[in-house]
Amino acid sequence: MNEIHHLIDGKSVHGTSGRTQPVFNPASGEQTGTVDLASESDVDDAVQVAERAYREWREVSIARRTKLMYNFRNLVDENTTEIAKRLTAEHGKVLSDSAGEVARGLENIEYACGLAEGLKGTMSENASTGIDVQTVRRPLGVVAGITPFNFPAMIPLWTIPNAVAAGNAFVLKPSERDPSSPMFIAELFHEAGFPDGLLNVVNGDKVAVDALLTHDLVRAVSFVGSTPIAKYIYSTAAANGKRVQALGGAKNHMVVLPDADIDLAADAAVSAGYGSAGERCMAISVIVAVGDVADPLIAAIAERTTRLTIGDGTDPASEMGPLITREHRDRVAGYIEAGAAAGATVVVDGREQEFDSNGFFLGVSLIDNVTTDMSVYTDEIFGPVLSVVRVETFAEAMDMIEANQWGNGTAVFTRDGGAARRFQEEVEAGMVGINVPVPVPVGYHSFGGWNNSFFGDTTMYGPEGLRFYTRPKVTTIRWPDPATSSVNLGFPTLE
Ligand code: NAD
Repeated sequence: MNEIHHLIDGKSVHGTSGRTQPVFNPASGEQTGTVDLASESDVDDAVQVAERAYREWREVSIARRTKLMYNFRNLVDENTTEIAKRLTAEHGKVLSDSAGEVARGLENIEYACGLAEGLKGTMSENASTGIDVQTVRRPLGVVAGITPFNFPAMIPLWTIPNAVAAGNAFVLKPSERDPSSPMFIAELFHEAGFPDGLLNVVNGDKVAVDALLTHDLVRAVSFVGSTPIAKYIYSTAAANGKRVQALGGAKNHMVVLPDADIDLAADAAVSAGYGSAGERCMAISVIVAVGDVADPLIAAIAERTTRLTIGDGTDPASEMGPLITREHRDRVAGYIEAGAAAGATVVVDGREQEFDSNGFFLGVSLIDNVTTDMSVYTDEIFGPVLSVVRVETFAEAMDMIEANQWGNGTAVFTRDGGAARRFQEEVEAGMVGINVPVPVPVGYHSFGGWNNSFFGDTTMYGPEGLRFYTRPKVTTIRWPDPATSSVNLGFPTLE
């Protein structure tokens, strides 16, 4: 059994709560380890250590910070396979997805390597005669990250590099369901030469989260997870005087117009709907088929589902792995039943596929004739289920997206540039794809949805992320004219 503890002040620490939680391999259904669940005093230890580290780190030169960030970047890159192995063992996604996740995380370390440029201040010379005004961005102090199970390596990397580059210290509370890959990344962070205490990992559940949200020394909270918890984090942390960015759940629509390339759209629907077993916040879960595109599109998707290989994520032949837990698998299966009972047409039923394993497997599902009052449409399912809603016009598709409570990502498939432009301009979502089904921004832009997919005002990573972890300090400077000094150095008087 793998015992997973906390990482505080550079050391593995058991914690004081005596509480643990089992960790499973979703592909076999077997328990592979236990993770410690932190007490309030464990969290306090981590925050106190981080505060001390911050006070020294904020004065470390840009040159030194940059060098360490490059070391970290290289270590994560060199250890991609090992991180992916640990990730797949607890999450279940296929190894190529896990390695892809590390690559997307790496982009954020690379962005933070440019901290010299990102942290440059501004100056106005002679704002008034002989008076200069300078703005610099200073760090906040101790900042906390609370992250979900579905990208256990990438999402911590959305936050830690920028926060540390800007001079902050970090306390990470990863998902208790798959904590090994973030723990390993934290070890690499120390190996890179960053000081002990600058990045601490407390494993745990609501107890640890609440301790972070209410701790006086925690200045900012970055959260990624489901909408109800995001709302709770946003309101609780803000009520305790903290800066907050809280990313929530999603229901991403892919609009397919009648002129779309059917093969391109069907390939996109399959990879974006079923990739990583649909457990992605940017997964496509609703296809909005406009006009007569529905029949050929559904046939093309259904045909592709017969060729998908579902199995253990460590098997190179597998294209999709299991779901995260048995309970979640059963909950997702329940939505297929509910859709059928509400009158939708189950074209492909994932429950019919049998697996020779006790793992948390479910086949992929495709459900046609879904309407916006059905639970398959209204709820975030977070599994390999694609719902198709048929509409007559582009305007109906746009209204549907606007009426939906979420607004994370969305995509349109069309050959018509004018229609794509209207979509881009008018659609009610934070991240938009034009013939790109999963438009996750690159690390030098920023990530965040709209409406119930995001609470806060500064989105994650890239320039917005760096800004979130800094506060401006503006200095107004007047030096007396040296010509009036008691020591005559020969300066002419200013005009
Ligand atoms: P979750 O909300 O259950 O958990 C997220 C984090 O919150 C975990 O660290 C967990 O320990 C903690 N937590 C859970 N319940 C809590 C409670 N009652 N009080 C305090 N803390 C609590 O989410 P999850 O199941 O791990 O991840 C899946 C969800 O995350 C989906 O809804 C998905 O859409 C969302 N997500 C969103 C984004 C995005 O960028 N918007 C990205 C990834 C995942």
